[in-house]
Amino acid sequence: MLSDNSSAVPVSPGQFRSTLELNLQNTDVSAAEEIAGPGSKKTQDLEPEIGYVVQKGDTLSTIFDHLRISQPTLYKLMEADLNILALDTIQPGHKLGFNFDDAGKLKQFIFRSGLTYKVLFDRSKKGDFEYEEFIEKGGFRREIISGTVEGDLPRSMKRAGARIAEAYQVTSLLKERMNFRSHLRAGDKFQLSVSRQYVYGVYTGNSVIEGFVYDGAIRKQSAFLFDDNYFDAEGESLEKAFQRIPLQKRYRISSSFNPKRKHPVTGLVRPHNGTDFSVRTGTPVLSAGDGVVSRVIKHRYAGLYIEIKHGRKYKTRYLHLSRAYVRKGQKVSRGQKIAASGNSGRSTGAHLHYELHVNGRPVNAMTAPIPVVQTISRKKRNAFKKQVAALKTQMAEQLALAEKQ
Ligand SMILES: [Zn+2]
Repeated sequence: MLSDNSSAVPVSPGQFRSTLELNLQNTDVSAAEEIAGPGSKKTQDLEPEIGYVVQKGDTLSTIFDHLRISQPTLYKLMEADLNILALDTIQPGHKLGFNFDDAGKLKQFIFRSGLTYKVLFDRSKKGDFEYEEFIEKGGFRREIISGTVEGDLPRSMKRAGARIAEAYQVTSLLKERMNFRSHLRAGDKFQLSVSRQYVYGVYTGNSVIEGFVYDGAIRKQSAFLFDDNYFDAEGESLEKAFQRIPLQKRYRISSSFNPKRKHPVTGLVRPHNGTDFSVRTGTPVLSAGDGVVSRVIKHRYAGLYIEIKHGRKYKTRYLHLSRAYVRKGQKVSRGQKIAASGNSGRSTGAHLHYELHVNGRPVNAMTAPIPVVQTISRKKRNAFKKQVAALKTQMAEQLALAEKQ
């Protein structure tokens, strides 16, 4: 590792341009929505002085070394990133941008993953970094897909024009209601209504299943999205509930969710994106819901932490652990013991930091509306019926059209 030369880069950063694969796309920031981060200063999204596309085998520290940016600077970035942990997702193909001040010190760092997500890290006068997150909204287009079963359901859906991820989303939605071996018959009909996201005309990989109807010889089943939850045609919930607290019992909350928290010394906005429970090291930590473990990582500041994805919409994180009992890719169920709490990373005492994210945004896990509903309330029943009827009409029209051809 190089010594701290963040204030004196020996060569002009521009000189590296030729050695690195570059060029972040020039993107119109007005199309992006600021979702977090302090202040509201408009940041121009100009071409950075150095752009870099992450390659296989790269790590942030090898990239920073290569650009002769000091380790303390990297740590300062990681410290700012502690609130979102975006840099832990770094993968080949992600784009990085670097801007320097006149003294050659890193002034701004840009992290971009995929078409829709970007974080800007700006160095404040005091030398620390502040972040701003952007999510491109793009536009959603509804597509209706009709098909018949031949072989298994995901492959039949793929043949009809669904993406494989969409097909798996459908099977996971209906897994409590259908047995995808014994209930399927060749020739069974199905229809899918899906909204797909496009940014600048390019499909982003995000799609939302709006409705699925399965009309089989043995089984008829459907799923409809309403008020951010999935229900069958009768309005019964298809999604499993979450537990509010990822612990066996209620413990004292030592620090609450606070997106506007200010650092007591620097005065910089340091959001607290989670809820801290005062628990002794070794306390069992439970998965808040059914899901798949998406990260088990040791982080300089977050300590040993686990992230779990619960379907397309929900994500939970558990920080400062002492032990993890699960590995990446593992399926977990609600209430399953996943870890022992601890005091790892930068932590002032033993506690569990717990985060709930809805559609990529941290929310207050203690108050957020989480799926606990089992049926649609009487008040909303009419709205639900209307929405389902409208979608079914569209699906029927599409089917009639397809059969004519
Ligand atoms: Zn915390």
